[in-house]
Amino acid sequence: MKILFASPEIVPFAKTGGLADVSGALPKALEKLGEDVTVIMPKYRTVDDKKFGLEYTGKNIQVPISNRIEEAKIYKGYINSGARGKGQGASKDIPIYFIDKKEYYDRQYLYGTPQGDYPDNAERFIYFDRAILETCKTIGLKPDIIHCNDWQTGMVPVYLKTLYKDDLFFKDTSTLFTVHNLGYQGLFWHLDMHLTNLGWDIFSPDGIEFYGKMNILKGGLVYSDAITTVSKTYSQEIQTKEYGCGLDGVLRKRKDDLYGVINGIDYEEWNPATDKYLSAKYLKENLSGKWDCKKDLLNIYGLKASKEVPVLSVISRLADQKGFDLIAEIMDDLMKLDVQFILLGTGEDKYHKLFEDIGKKYPSKAGIKIGFDNALSHKIEAGADMFLMSSRYEPCGLNQLYSLKYGTIPIVRGTGGLNDTIENYNPVRRNGNGFKFTEYSSMTLLSTIKTALDLYRDKSEWNRLMINAMGEDFSWNHSAKEYVELYRKVINKRIKNKF
Ligand code: ADP
Repeated sequence: MKILFASPEIVPFAKTGGLADVSGALPKALEKLGEDVTVIMPKYRTVDDKKFGLEYTGKNIQVPISNRIEEAKIYKGYINSGARGKGQGASKDIPIYFIDKKEYYDRQYLYGTPQGDYPDNAERFIYFDRAILETCKTIGLKPDIIHCNDWQTGMVPVYLKTLYKDDLFFKDTSTLFTVHNLGYQGLFWHLDMHLTNLGWDIFSPDGIEFYGKMNILKGGLVYSDAITTVSKTYSQEIQTKEYGCGLDGVLRKRKDDLYGVINGIDYEEWNPATDKYLSAKYLKENLSGKWDCKKDLLNIYGLKASKEVPVLSVISRLADQKGFDLIAEIMDDLMKLDVQFILLGTGEDKYHKLFEDIGKKYPSKAGIKIGFDNALSHKIEAGADMFLMSSRYEPCGLNQLYSLKYGTIPIVRGTGGLNDTIENYNPVRRNGNGFKFTEYSSMTLLSTIKTALDLYRDKSEWNRLMINAMGEDFSWNHSAKEYVELYRKVINKRIKNKF
């Protein structure tokens, strides 16, 4: 199959969150399964030609937007898939195209500054979506399927079913739309409709209208051939009023085409046996290096390391979604217990202040770093004993999966992907990989942490739990196969519908 993978952020070129990790790893896993993958994204300021070995293709696209035609350049690079080529055993590279339109993408941030979103995001991403289709035509790429990701690519399915409906070039092209987080929808006022070059008939409750606004994510949900989200539980949750962010009705309508596929993780990046950021390496067969990592981590945070005192950690975007109101409520009670707390995060100002205050109040027990730091995030995964995710909702979550691999036991709220990947440890059967609670309340969170702290005192049980966790396999192997099956299903349905 010829697959075009379209995403607004991809590791290592640009990242704000988990979507970039997934977009960097899934195309490689698909290529390893023998599929023919091409990738496309905007050329942001971080996408440096020299650093990534990119070249201008010599080709430009003319993209209509509103009553104008705007030109962009197409750049090309490669992602090394690590897969063996079909020919002489050469390593096969995945082509990646970049839309180079400086007015839109050559900025310090991807979507907005800490003060808020860029005011022209509708224009930037409506343009990107039409540019994807125009690039296909210009480079002669006829995909069997375009795999779109999040609201920034939501207009691709809309265009294929409207403006490009009779375009023979795309007569065999289907779409799959993946929702990585329903909380971000690309909502804009109706007067931005002119940017789409579509008629007002599309601006209806059955189209992209949403309570008087234009909703680009909804476009992806309504017009794509199939929809996926990043865990089975989240695919169910988003069909309810509580988690549906106003789109539960639309999702229920499409429930026969809605699938949950759990994200994998890249064990080349996240593995305590090979991780280049760690002061010592370790394996589940020999955990001694983890103590070195704990000392190194606590040293960075200016805290004293003890084998008897467990370190509870958090690495996160500091946003309401992640359940920090619960953590704030229990902090005083938590700090009375024999435990240390470490946090790395950045996001909303109110949380920066909240956690900085906690750091000042408990200088010998709490270490707080506000910022985005990839190397430190690896050190935390290795050096901590427990990892906390009390999310209000969590489509998949990656950090609990990294934590498992590093023997850092997740304590999670059983929502979305956290529910699908973490099983409560059962001391009788000695199975399970972490601690999980359901009710969104600070008391339940605190009592679950206390259960974990009790078990930590029993070294043999804790060791067993760590070994269970480290033995889990959340590589892409399985999930990439699920995507391939889904692509096939979507393509076959399209062929059947033709006759
Ligand atoms: P989300 O996409 O909702 O932010 P995920 O758990 O799916 O949450 O993915 C978050 C990704 O971003 C992980 O790779 C995590 O390690 C990384 N991350 C989040 N905050 C930071 C930070 N402050 N410093 C370094 N990495 C971070």
